[in-house]
Amino acid sequence: MNSPVQKIKERLSIEEVVSSYINLEKIGSNLKAKCPFHDEKTPSFFISNDRGSYYCFGCGAKGDIFTFVEEFEGLDFKGALKLLAERADVPLENYNPKEESEKEKLYRIMEETTNFFESNLIKNLEAQKYLKDRGLEDITVKSFRVGFVENEWRLLYNFLKKKEFSDLEMEKAGLVKKTDKGYYDRFRGRIMFPIADSSGRVIAFSGRIFGVAAENTANAKYLNSPETPIFSKSAVLYGLDKAKDSIRKNNFSILVEGQFDLILSHQAGFRNTVATSGTALSDSTISKENVVSNLGLIRRLSSNVVLAFDADKAGFNAVNRAGKVALSFGMDVKVASMLDGVDPADLISKNGSEAWHEAIKNSKHIIEFLLNKALKDFGSDSRKMGREIKEKVLPFVNALESAIEKAHFLKKISDASQIPEAALKEDLEKIEKEFQFEKEEIKNATQLENKVFRKDYIERRLLGIVLWQKKMTKPAINVEKITKELAEIFDIKENELSLKFKDNKEDLIFEAEVFYGGDADLEKDVLELLNNLKEEYLKETLFKKMQELHILEIKKNNRGTIEVLKENNKINKKIQNIKNGRLKK
Ligand SMILES: [Zn+2]
Repeated sequence: MNSPVQKIKERLSIEEVVSSYINLEKIGSNLKAKCPFHDEKTPSFFISNDRGSYYCFGCGAKGDIFTFVEEFEGLDFKGALKLLAERADVPLENYNPKEESEKEKLYRIMEETTNFFESNLIKNLEAQKYLKDRGLEDITVKSFRVGFVENEWRLLYNFLKKKEFSDLEMEKAGLVKKTDKGYYDRFRGRIMFPIADSSGRVIAFSGRIFGVAAENTANAKYLNSPETPIFSKSAVLYGLDKAKDSIRKNNFSILVEGQFDLILSHQAGFRNTVATSGTALSDSTISKENVVSNLGLIRRLSSNVVLAFDADKAGFNAVNRAGKVALSFGMDVKVASMLDGVDPADLISKNGSEAWHEAIKNSKHIIEFLLNKALKDFGSDSRKMGREIKEKVLPFVNALESAIEKAHFLKKISDASQIPEAALKEDLEKIEKEFQFEKEEIKNATQLENKVFRKDYIERRLLGIVLWQKKMTKPAINVEKITKELAEIFDIKENELSLKFKDNKEDLIFEAEVFYGGDADLEKDVLELLNNLKEEYLKETLFKKMQELHILEIKKNNRGTIEVLKENNKINKKIQNIKNGRLKK
């Protein structure tokens, strides 16, 4: 029997899939590219059509079309399967798992809820008129699946009850809240915007207050879904599912703040727009790691981004946060200039698409933008202007990756402000020291993000295979032996192994079955996965040891340094052994 994975692989080559995301160069029978999963100037990312796989010599990323799509699009296996099956025109209906996993159920509950909100909008003329007044065309409302919910306590709750969802499921999906008197709807009296992952599955909502509910000042203007098992604020940007192809094609993205900004920008012809609303970038309480992973999503599609935020204080802070991290990624960051208190949605609905096109066309490099702002605000007072440049502009020069670019902007600032270049340089050096920690933090977060993902991915595959084979009367692998080895790698007891992934057991089994069903040599594949996992664990330990070493060296702790170096040697030998083992085969 041919599994859908095999069918998809027969129809889609790795070259076809990867080249739809990044540019490939031919070298002999192989292909290479700049790795999308780590920062690099010269290509070390190789693709083999014969083997249907990719490997990066820089960061160790490797896998097939499924892992590539998962990692590139930030999806789980099922999301990647959905996207690739659609692309290859392979039907998946027959491969629904017998038991619906928790996550599957949550996706279904979100889909039903989206339908419910959509049908409520059709019944409410007032809400429809409001959307029209804000400039949304009917076709846009449909395409973004904008909905509405009346200001009542249990409309959605009762609807989902009828669909036989349990209280707990609704609560887990973030749709209802619990009190002593029972459950009630989280979203009431709101225009509802569904947030989808990059495969188009609805995973969260953002609701804008509307009608009578708006009269109560205690109600927040915007209310977002909480984090749930299927929604992580750092892993999604609003509109990404609709924007990704256009970002790739046009080689730049536009980052806006709110739902209306995004939808109107798409309507005005800029389909390469994504929004921060409801995600980590809009939440100042969220750590830098999350900003890194948020921006990572769009950076992989294109390294050029235009930030378009309301020039008020909150918008300005968002520019600050996103801009600095993006620059340190080596991205080219521009800012679309808009008047104070005007957001893209206002601009488009009042002055038309043309005005928006102009704003994007006239966007300036973020450092130029900030410099102009400082000159405009404090031009007459040279002392204040100098301070403003030091505090608000130089940190961004510091964030730049390239030394040439740094020099270029120092000269530009000096020319425009009449501050001597030497003085700017001196201040920049101080800032470099001050922000060194922040820079390292961003760098580590980026490295760690890739590492954690790869390890998780192998772990998931292995556990899936074990769980799946365990149910067979005649397993194709030695389940006991593999279980023992896994427990050893994780450094836990064998009976604790099942606890590790208890929440998504069904998903894991499904993934293994669909991936390895019909595999001629499962045992060989499992051994390879085990070796890969061991290697990832060793590399992770090595990575931590290197950080430790760095600190010991700064502290000039010679004895400690020697100890750690010895340990590193041992780890390196083990890694080498695994690699040699692979070559012998
Ligand atoms: Zn790489």
